[in-house]
Amino acid sequence: MIRLYDSARGEVVALQPRDAGRLSMYVCGPTVYGPPHIGHGRFTLVWDVARRWYTFCGLDVTYVCNVTDIDDKIINRARDEGRTELDVAKEFEAQWFEAMDAIGVARPDESPHATHYLSEMIDLIAELLERGVAYRTSDGVYFEVARVPDYGLLAGQPLDSLRVGARVEAVEEKRSPLDFALWKNAKPGEPRWPAPFGDGRPGWHTECVVMSLQLLGDDFDLHTGGLDLMFPHHENERAQAVAWGHAFSRYWAHNGMVMVGGDKMAKSLGNFTTMSDLLADTDPRAYRLLVLRSHYRSPIEVTAATIADAERALARLDGLARRFGLAALAGTVLERATSFSWEGAAGDLYGAVALSLDDDLDTPGAMAQIFDAVTAAHAAADRGDTDTARTLAEAVNALCGALGLSLRGDADVVDDASAALVAARDEARSRKDWAEADRLRDELVSLGWTVEDAAGGTQIRR
Ligand SMILES: [Zn+2]
Repeated sequence: MIRLYDSARGEVVALQPRDAGRLSMYVCGPTVYGPPHIGHGRFTLVWDVARRWYTFCGLDVTYVCNVTDIDDKIINRARDEGRTELDVAKEFEAQWFEAMDAIGVARPDESPHATHYLSEMIDLIAELLERGVAYRTSDGVYFEVARVPDYGLLAGQPLDSLRVGARVEAVEEKRSPLDFALWKNAKPGEPRWPAPFGDGRPGWHTECVVMSLQLLGDDFDLHTGGLDLMFPHHENERAQAVAWGHAFSRYWAHNGMVMVGGDKMAKSLGNFTTMSDLLADTDPRAYRLLVLRSHYRSPIEVTAATIADAERALARLDGLARRFGLAALAGTVLERATSFSWEGAAGDLYGAVALSLDDDLDTPGAMAQIFDAVTAAHAAADRGDTDTARTLAEAVNALCGALGLSLRGDADVVDDASAALVAARDEARSRKDWAEADRLRDELVSLGWTVEDAAGGTQIRR
């Protein structure tokens, strides 16, 4: 039984999927106008973990994550750089999937593109005009939010109090500042699609309504995204679906933001880190582990200190894999728990981890159980109880794999510079120059190595 915090109901609820044994998920994906940043990395990791876990538990999960390939930001970048919108979108979509592959986010079952659903979006807008919930202005078509009785459900505020806080925009023809564009008439030089209400392009909030309903059907199970999308994006998606006569999504879930020094990470604040910056000198698995060790609804701090902490934790997991010669799992494979034998201590661990994860995806609780099992496996091996030790180690490996975290027990690749330091240290030790040997040890440690004195000389590992 999966329990998850539903943003629409404001509490943790038991998920009742539309179809028994299946789970349909729609995750709001990227607008491809710039390089993916670590906030994108977080939301994709959170929902990748959810997808993997629910699959592991036996659900047949259908996972859709869209690509917004037409938008004001793409148009602006294309104009500034003298390129076509398609060219900009293609470049950053390629960067997006490269970054997602690097952090082990499994490819969605479907990645619908907004520009492939234009006729469906035009039909929806025409229908909303017909039903009298949308109106035309000189610059496009707007949705009248006052026509949806429970507008503000996701925001957790009634329409009147939302209206007080709304920014008054320049479009004076709007009936309310909360009304939003369904269609934007094309200005000279802008991309355009023909429509009965004027050539132009769709508003962002319309594409997800059309694509989610088309691919997952009405009353699909779970609509997710970052907390920053809850209002107005998700509110406005829902408003259109309701006005169109659909039940839309049964449940809504939102992940917390990435923070830097107490502020939300944002381009405008200049505290923006791209995925390629992060991955230049961070093991991508460490970022997954950092995300796993935080609750998905909480904000996370991504700093040198929190990354280093995740890398140390990862080294503990890899150390277990090395000691027991465990084979690397995970990758892009989405597996079911039935592929592993859960007996004895392994079954207890699986039970404890499942209890945490099924309770509002409590990944920090699950990882704490897993790390306790790492300690217990080493202790069992040290006292000669090899059966228990191996059972626990293999269960840890299988559960990490289920969460998309692949452990590496194979030997580290030692670079030439580190190998030279090891040789110099062995040479210093052979002539009993302990001060020099210590200095070389410190230098290796500063390069990220754990240094051990073994019978054959200096041994190093990450
Ligand atoms: Zn969306």
